[in-house]
Amino acid sequence: MTNNIVVLGAGVSGLTTAYLLSQDPANKITVLAKHMPGDYDIEYASPWAGANYMPVGKEGSAHHRWERDTWPALKEITEKYPEAGIHFRGTLIYNRKKDQESDTGKWFSELTQPKPWFKDVVPDFKNVPADQLAPGVDNGQEFTSVCINTAVYLPWLVGQCIKNGAVFKRAVFKHIADAADAHHTGQKADVVINCTGLSSRTLGGVLDSNMYPARGQIVVVRNDPGPMMSTSGTDDGEDEALYIMTRAAGGGTILGGSYQKHNWDPIPDMNLANRIMKRCIGVCPNLVKKGQGIEGLDIVRHGVGLRPLREGGTRIEKDNINGVAVVHNYGHGGFGYQASFGCAYDVVALTKEVLRNKTRARL
Ligand code: FAD
Repeated sequence: MTNNIVVLGAGVSGLTTAYLLSQDPANKITVLAKHMPGDYDIEYASPWAGANYMPVGKEGSAHHRWERDTWPALKEITEKYPEAGIHFRGTLIYNRKKDQESDTGKWFSELTQPKPWFKDVVPDFKNVPADQLAPGVDNGQEFTSVCINTAVYLPWLVGQCIKNGAVFKRAVFKHIADAADAHHTGQKADVVINCTGLSSRTLGGVLDSNMYPARGQIVVVRNDPGPMMSTSGTDDGEDEALYIMTRAAGGGTILGGSYQKHNWDPIPDMNLANRIMKRCIGVCPNLVKKGQGIEGLDIVRHGVGLRPLREGGTRIEKDNINGVAVVHNYGHGGFGYQASFGCAYDVVALTKEVLRNKTRARL
């Protein structure tokens, strides 16, 4: 018996789900999407991400489980498939207690704890000795994490899916149920996996008004400072962030950023860009040559992406829309990569339940 599956969306959520589902030869998969790897668009979050693994899920939550379960998969890909564009990188996190109530401080509250749950997940976790902390920093930790070159990793996922027989097609849907009629076999899909990110807000049949953006602005530079770095907040505004990460395989260094909730503006704000660059040099002077300021940065591009946040958290559940079986996988905010495999494992389990029920109904 074969299963006809449509994955709607080709961001990291759709591609990771398709990658896992395609490992079962009984699954015939069509990935349908408006945007595919290679595109840069404000409606497509995945290319804009750093992306790295800096866990933020609260201990004991499903989010915690998704991030915990994603680390082994990212580690394995990094070790076994250098062509996937992921490398290990030393990571430094600095916490200032005064940031606790800001949007960025709340976002990073788990990440910045001296004893977070992930200390037993990532390698080399240790607290930074107090005498090595800059003035105003209350605690810091270091560990080994990964940094993903999204321009290499997303196409690598596409390649893995195609190798396993999946078919990719461009398509735009007004209603999710219509995607069931676009399976490459010409037959109706048994199940549609909804990985449309922020667009789940406007997609017919879903219309999830709990979805909203957290705008992230970045500067990509050619400078390479070494370790990744992040702080709990900045003195430039509650929704401004500070992080630095150098992507694998010549992907440049991402300087961030911002976490501007409900802000849909796709155009980079040059004042914010200047603040981002100054802050990054302030915390990491090695970014530029001695004595240089932002003129020492070799800019590749400015960018803006919208993190697909959801009031109430990520939605991973079964649904039935106009008689079409649907499994949702959207609303991954600023953690779509670092929770990608954990979320996709849950989606695969739900998809199997849907397919089992269909088989029973056919008998
Ligand atoms: P998307 O990537 O937005 O993909 C949605 C897909 O659905 C697209 O293919 C789109 O074309 C398709 N689609 C939507 N509607 C339709 C329709 N009607 N018809 C057909 N196709 C449709 N995460 C991390 O884990 N680590 C990080 O370091 C990190 N850094 C980030 C930095 C920035 C600046 C930003 C913006 C995000 C960052 N994130 C990070 C978050 C991460 O990028 C997102 O959580 C993730 O990309 C969401 O992926 P997605 O596949 O759910 O959605």
